[in-house]
Amino acid sequence: MPRTDNNTSHVLAADPGLAPVNTLPGVGPVLEAALERIGITRVQDLWFHLPLRYEDRTRLTPISELRIGESAQVEGTIEAVERGFRFRPQLRVVISDDTRTMLTLRFFSFRRAQVDQLTPGARLRCYGRIRHGAHGPEIVHPQYQRLSGEGSGIEETLTPVYPVTEGLGQKRIAGLITHALRKLPADATLELIPENLRIHLRLLSLREALLLVHRPPAGADVASLVLGIHPAQQRLAFEELLTHHLSLRRLRAQVREHAAPRLRGSGKLRKAMLKSLPFALTAAQRRVSVEIEKDLSLAEPMLRLVQGDVGSGKTIVAAAAALAAIESGFQVALMAPTELLAEQHLRNLRDWLVPLGIEPVWLAGKVQGKARSNALAALAGDAQLVIGTHALMQQAVEFRNLGLVIIDEQHRFGVHQRLALREKGRDGITMPHQLVLTATPIPRTLAMTAYADLDVSVIDELPPGRTPVTTVALASSRRGEVIDRIRVACAEGRQVYWVCTLIEESEQLEAQAAEVAHAELSSLLEGLAIGLVHGRLKPREKQVVMDDFRAGRISLLVATTVIEVGVDVPNASLMVIENSERLGLAQLHQLRGRVGRGSQASTCVLLYQPPLSAMARERLTAMRDTSDGFVIAEKDLELRGPGELLGTRQTGRLEFRIADLARDAAMLGDVQRIGAAMLDQHPLACERLVARWIGGAARFAGA
Ligand code: ADP
Ligand code: MG
Repeated sequence: MPRTDNNTSHVLAADPGLAPVNTLPGVGPVLEAALERIGITRVQDLWFHLPLRYEDRTRLTPISELRIGESAQVEGTIEAVERGFRFRPQLRVVISDDTRTMLTLRFFSFRRAQVDQLTPGARLRCYGRIRHGAHGPEIVHPQYQRLSGEGSGIEETLTPVYPVTEGLGQKRIAGLITHALRKLPADATLELIPENLRIHLRLLSLREALLLVHRPPAGADVASLVLGIHPAQQRLAFEELLTHHLSLRRLRAQVREHAAPRLRGSGKLRKAMLKSLPFALTAAQRRVSVEIEKDLSLAEPMLRLVQGDVGSGKTIVAAAAALAAIESGFQVALMAPTELLAEQHLRNLRDWLVPLGIEPVWLAGKVQGKARSNALAALAGDAQLVIGTHALMQQAVEFRNLGLVIIDEQHRFGVHQRLALREKGRDGITMPHQLVLTATPIPRTLAMTAYADLDVSVIDELPPGRTPVTTVALASSRRGEVIDRIRVACAEGRQVYWVCTLIEESEQLEAQAAEVAHAELSSLLEGLAIGLVHGRLKPREKQVVMDDFRAGRISLLVATTVIEVGVDVPNASLMVIENSERLGLAQLHQLRGRVGRGSQASTCVLLYQPPLSAMARERLTAMRDTSDGFVIAEKDLELRGPGELLGTRQTGRLEFRIADLARDAAMLGDVQRIGAAMLDQHPLACERLVARWIGGAARFAGA
C-alpha cells in the first residue's frame, strides 16, 4: 500500500502555498489586515479564493435585445440626464444606441464628479442587471465607464467576480490572485487526492482547474462556466465537497472520543412545563423529544439535528431538552443567528420557564458594561440557562458546567462556529451535548453530506388548527389591487408584511429598495401605522420596530429578507413579496412561513415582474400548489439541477466556495466512498485538504 503521507514533510516545507500573503508584491500591513478579514493569510488562500460567478463582458448587447433579469453590457450615448427627489435624491441617465431604444441608468447615491461626467452626448459602456423600469428597461447602479474616441476594445474573456470585503475591491483582489497564481507549483506538489483515485474519477489536474477558473482563456466554454458545470469547476467542487465531508467525519470522530454528562433528570420540570401549555405536543414532537432524551442520557455527546418545517414547533422541543439538562444540574446555552430571533426565544422561554423558577440569562452583542459582567458572572455561577447570539462564543464567556448547547436555524452558522461553542463546555474531559434546530428541509442524500457529523430527527407534522396559507402570484401591474387589499386587511385589525427583495449582494441596495417601498406605501396608505426594518438598522432600532409590530402598534411592516428566519407574530396574516421571481424556492418558503401562524386564514401574495422565465414560473407554481417544506425542497433540488445559479452558495447557506449541493448532488456517492478510503489510507492528505479549503475560513468564522 503506497503511503504517500510519510514523505510529504519535505514537500510541505517547500510548498509555496504556505508562504504568508505579505510575501506577494504590494501587500503591506493594511492590505494584509483586510485580507485576513476574509480568511486569507497564506498564498494558497488566494489560489482557493474562487470566483463567486462571472460577468460576461465579452460582448455588447443592443438595447433592443436586453432581457429583464439578465446582466448585460451595453454601449450608448447619453440622451438625457435628470436629477430628482422622489422620496430620495436620485440621478437618472437615459442612453440610447443604434437600435434607437432607450435604457435608463438609475443612481441613488452619486458624487458631484460623477454628475459632471455624465453629460448628454457622452458615450458610455455599462454593465449591470436589467430590470423593468417605469419607462422601459433600466439598470440600478450600473458599473460604467465613459468612452473617449472610437472602439476601445471589449474584454476577450469572462470577468470573474470574487468575494470582497471593505477596503478590498474586485480589481485589487484580482491583481493579488494573479500574483499568487504565478507561484502555483507543478501538479505533484499541489495534488492531495491520490493519483489512482484521481484517474479513476477522471478528474482534471488541479493546477489546470485553478488556472482556468480564475483566468478563463478566450474561447473557454462560456455557457458551462456561467452555469458552474465546466470540468474545471467540477474538479474543484469535487475536492471541496470531499474536504467538507472529511472535516465533518473527523469532527464527529473527535467529538465521539469525549465523554459527556449523562442528563437523565427527574422529568419533574418537563412535566410541569408541558402541563402549563395551552396545547398538547404533536405525535412528531413527542417522538423527537424521546429521541433527544435517549441521546442525553448517554455518556457520549449527542450530535443531533432536528429538522422541522417552519411552524412545526421546534422551540418547545428544545425547551424540553433544556429542562432535562437543568433537572440534572447542568447549564444550557441556546444560541440563535440574529438578535431578533434570540429575543423571541428569550420571550418564549421566559413565559414557559419563569413559573418553574428558572430565569434565563440574556447575552447578546449589545449587552455591555455592567449588564454584561453580571451575565458573565451568572454563567460562571449558578445560571441555569443562557439565551443569546454568537456573542455566546466570545473568549470571555465561561460556563460553570455547560451540559447542553442548542443552536437554532443552523444554516446561518458554519459548522466551525458550532464547534467553537461546543469547546466552551470542555473541562478537558467532558463535552456538552449538542442539539441543532433547522427549518431548512434537506433531502436525505444531501443531509448525509451536509450534516455528516450529525444524527437527524424530523418533526414531520404541523400542530393542528393551522389554516393553510393561500398563495397567489400576481403580476406587478396589479400592485394597486394588492394595496387596496392591505388597506382592507389592516382595517379589520390584521397585520401585514411587505417584503422587498434584491438578489444583488449589497445589503445597502436592498435597504434602499425597502426605504423606497416604505415611502411609497406610506403615501398611498395614509393614516396607517407603517414600520420599516432592514439589515442596515442598528439592532436597537430593529428591536423597537419589531416590538411595535408584535404589539400591534404597527399594522404594516415593510421589510427586507431579514425577517426570513423565525419571526413569530401570529396576528400577521397577509404577506406580500415583491419581485418574488428573484428568490429561490427555499427562501420563498421560509418567508411565507411568517404568516399562517395564527388561527386566521392567511394569504401570501407573490408579486412578480413579467415576463417570467420558465424556471421562475415553475417556482411560483410550486409555491402556489404546496406548503409542504419537504415537497418544496425536492422540487427545489429538481429545478436547481444544472441550469440555475441560485444555489446555496449565493444565498450563503452552506459555506461552499464553488460546490453547490443541489447542482453537484451526483458527486456525493463518490465523495462518501473516496472520503472513507482517504481517511483510512491518507490521513495527512486529509489534514492538508482541510487546511487548504476550510482552514482560513474557519478562523474567519470563529472571529
Ligand atoms: P418553529 O418550528 O418554526 O420554530 P415555533 O416553535 O416557533 O415553530 O412554533 C410555532 C408556534 O406554534 C408557536 O406559537 C408555538 O407556541 C406553537 N406550537 C408549538 N407546538 C404546538 C402544538 N403542539 N400545538 C399547538 N401549537 C403549538
Ligand atoms: Mg423557530
